[in-house]
Amino acid sequence: LGPTITAGEILVEIMSTSVGTGFLEPLTLLGPFPSGAPAIFIDQVARLGSAAGIISAVGSDDFGRLNIERLKRDGADVSAIEVLSDAPTGSAFVRYRPDGARDFVFNIARSASGQIRMTGAAKALVSRAGHVHVMGSAFAIPGIAEILAEAVASVRSRGGTVSFDPNIRKELVAGQGEARRRLEDILSVTDLLLPSGEELAIAAGLEDEEAAVHELLSRGISEIVLKRGALGSSWYRPGERIDCPAFVVDELDPTGAGDCFGATYVTCRRQGRSPAQSLRYANAAGARTVTKQGPMEGVSTFAELDEFIEANGSKA
Ligand code: ADP
Repeated sequence: LGPTITAGEILVEIMSTSVGTGFLEPLTLLGPFPSGAPAIFIDQVARLGSAAGIISAVGSDDFGRLNIERLKRDGADVSAIEVLSDAPTGSAFVRYRPDGARDFVFNIARSASGQIRMTGAAKALVSRAGHVHVMGSAFAIPGIAEILAEAVASVRSRGGTVSFDPNIRKELVAGQGEARRRLEDILSVTDLLLPSGEELAIAAGLEDEEAAVHELLSRGISEIVLKRGALGSSWYRPGERIDCPAFVVDELDPTGAGDCFGATYVTCRRQGRSPAQSLRYANAAGARTVTKQGPMEGVSTFAELDEFIEANGSKA
């Protein structure tokens, strides 16, 4: 199996230790934690023992080193992460509101992550890849759409597959018109779609869940896995549906759950597991992630997932 790859932002996340609104007063902060949805995804694939690599950029600073060291330690291919001397590593400051919503201060556009390029090393990674995972969050980065399109075309020409997590975040989506066009382009080459919440309806342009699923599957998407947070997940293929209840855990930090869930589902399927078994592992990965503070701190190995499933009861 060629590596699973993605392209997109690498950041550090620094979080307020107190719940509240915004950053308009001095706060006690925790971090830096390695972060960026594409980095979390790739780290989780690697932790499961599967080949994984990311096309990205960091600054020549400790925030960049922290990320590269973590990804390398967990077994990811970091050869296509460019280290830039003229831009800092991206950062995100996060504070939770009492209702669970989050306030962010992002530094991505002017960071190294805003300057991701298809370098020689990135081309080499693409030429080896067997699967591309496209993350909606990355589309705020100039030029990333072209990089991902090139990777998708290359991998598909060799019989590889594509997964897509729309990951639509209001803070990061540029203009409505352009975002829509991009969405349609990717949906047309997607094998596995991993939406959460309202993203399914947004992708299909239909409110009703069954109608939205039917519409997207009729366009040639082979599988849809809908993430439902603390309610678990559902899997769809034409004429088939499996619902997998969530494991019951105390949620400490939801960041990264969808990325770890997606990485685990993709990896399990690529390794030949059934949809039902893959869904159960993915649910376990998502649930474990929310019990750990820090976006990349909850990534799991198969041994950890087996232990978690054993301890929390088999729900599938
Ligand atoms: P996203 O982060 O993409 O919005 P979700 O929040 O739906 O995705 O989380 C992805 C998956 O992680 C869920 O489908 C579920 O399996 C698991 N998960 C998320 N939150 C919880 C929770 N509070 N308790 C148990 N499992 C959870």
